[in-house]
Amino acid sequence: MIETTLIIFKPSSIARGLVGSILSRFEAKGLTIVGMKMMQLDEALLREHYAHLVDRPFFPSVISSMTATPVIVLALRGRDAIAVVRMLTGATNGREAAPGTIRGDFSMSNQENVIHASSSPDDAAAELKRFFAPGEIIEWTPDNLKFLYAASELQ
Ligand code: ADP
Repeated sequence: MIETTLIIFKPSSIARGLVGSILSRFEAKGLTIVGMKMMQLDEALLREHYAHLVDRPFFPSVISSMTATPVIVLALRGRDAIAVVRMLTGATNGREAAPGTIRGDFSMSNQENVIHASSSPDDAAAELKRFFAPGEIIEWTPDNLKFLYAASELQ
């Protein structure tokens, strides 16, 4: 299925100047950029986004980490994009993430792991709505799709 997924360039990638290097991996893979903007996160939005973590002892540290600089939110589209982007992202802890993954290549940390990526179709739908206003996801079709996919993969 053609899916859209949400990526957040966390302060750990913004501050270290890694946005271009990471974005180029998604572009080279063949994912289509359909939304991208810079924004400053706040505690209220993060409590919603990381609702599954609010009771964990490290949560205050996650809040200060994620608000340390503005972030860039990115919407990427492609066949099975949610799982593909999670695979490219790698395990949560950068020290354990496989070499060749984004976290495996750019992070030494469980917290400062450079990007967020939606983990399921339900999460992706909720997160795209959370971080992009109506109209900020652009519906467009790149003209190189036949060099990225077989026709049968686009149905
Ligand atoms: P993922 O980002 O891989 O989907 P989680 O949803 O479990 O992982 O966690 C969200 C984020 O919270 C992680 O990306 C990381 O920045 C932070 N985090 C998770 N576990 C820890 C931890 N034990 N210590 C510090 N930060 C953590």
